[in-house]
Parts: sequence; structure tokens; C-alpha cells
Amino acid sequence: MNKLIIFSAPSGSGKSTIVQHLLSLEKLNLAFSISATSRAPRGKEQHGKEYYFLSIDEFKERIASGDFLEWEEVYAGNFYGTLKTEVERLWSLGKAVVFDIDVVGGLRIKEQFPDQSLAIFVKPPSIEELEKRLRNRQTESEDKIKMRLDKASQELAQAEKFDVIIENDDLQKALQEAENVVSNFLKST
Ligand code: ADP
Ligand code: 5GP
Repeated sequence: MNKLIIFSAPSGSGKSTIVQHLLSLEKLNLAFSISATSRAPRGKEQHGKEYYFLSIDEFKERIASGDFLEWEEVYAGNFYGTLKTEVERLWSLGKAVVFDIDVVGGLRIKEQFPDQSLAIFVKPPSIEELEKRLRNRQTESEDKIKMRLDKASQELAQAEKFDVIIENDDLQKALQEAENVVSNFLKST
């Protein structure tokens, strides 16, 4: 069966760190679903690696063509979405597809593939710790940090809708727990 593993969390919770760890484990045979976004590349991000970077106009054209499994204006003016062709491409390689996606998008994908997907919510120990991690990461301006923190409380309220909640306090424990739940899910039919 083609499978989907969805990771959602408030920005800064550590979901990219967890996803990158799982992708490095060859035995899991996972592949990362590269989303499309209209935001600008950050640091060393490359088109076709972290994201497919599209202009706002290109993004809107692809919405109109029905090319997305789900899409979202995650932050004002910044669109993000999962292309149907991306998921099909990875399934055709025999991989289980991993998503690093916002909470609303994650639940939309879960809805479309209820039995084939495992939806995991990564929870930060507290909003204060989340703020600390976002600042330490040094990738966002003060405005953007505020925007992400504002969104975080709404997202935390959705945690119970996911199949599994992993609290990311001690990173090593969270990585192990993620590995266990994903590995068990992949073994099930
Ligand atoms: P997200 O993908 O959810 O936005 P990241 O994986 O980028 O989050 O993590 C945000 C920051 O917090 C990164 O700098 C990361 O190294 C750090 N981090 C992740 N997990 C932990 C943890 N358990 N304890 C402390 N720092 C962490
Ligand atoms: P960032 O700008 O930090 O890379 O990502 C911002 C947010 O957008 C994160 O919460 C990330 O999970 C989310 N995101 C990334 N790709 C997608 C996608 O394809 N769809 C949706 N709905 N959200 C996404």
C-alpha cells in the first residue's frame, strides 16, 4: 500500500530536525515530499531540494489548474502546497512519503488518505521554549518570529486531531519515539 507520513507542528518545534533524522535511516525507505512555496529561498535552500520555489503568479496558476493535493496561505502573502505529481513521483519509486507541513495542510492530507497515512504532531515543551528555539535558529526576522508564535497557540489546540503526539523536549528521546512509531506503521498493512 502507498503510505504517507505527515509531520505537523508549530514552526520551531523541531519537526524538520526529526524528519531529517528519519530520512537518514535507509531501512525506513522514506522520501521527502518537496512542497511548492511562494516564499523566497532562505540561506542555502535550493529549488527542487527543500522546496519548489514558485512566483506568486505561478503558484496561483497551479491552484487554478487543480495541481495541488492541498495548499495554504500559511503566513500572509506566503503560499505553500503539496503537488499531486510530487506524491505520485515518490510512490512510483516505491517510497513512503514524508510531509513536513503546517497543521491545517497535514489534517487535509490525512482526510484524503485516512488509512494510508500516519499523522504525527510534534509538540514543543512550552511556547517559551518554542520562542527560544526560533530565536536561536536565527533564520527569521523579529516580525516573522512574532507571526509564527501567534500561529503556534492555534496550532497547539489541534494536536489531539493527530494519530500520534510526540513531545520534543529531549531531542534524542523524540528521535527514537519518531523512529518507533514510523517503523511500526510501515510494518502494518
Ligand atoms: P521546525 O522544523 O519545527 O520549524 P526545526 O527542526 O528547525 O523546527 O527546529 C527549530 C530549532 O530548534 C533548530 O535550531 C533546532 O536545532 C532546535 N531544536 C530541535 N529540537 C530541539 C530540542 N529537543 N531541544 C533544543 N533545541 C532543539
Ligand atoms: P518554512 O517557511 O519555515 O519553511 O515553513 C513554514 C510553514 O509552512 C511550516 O509550518 C511548514 O510545515 C509549512 N509547509 C511547508 N510545506 C507545506 C505544504 O506543502 N503545505 C502546507 N499546508 N504547509 C506547508
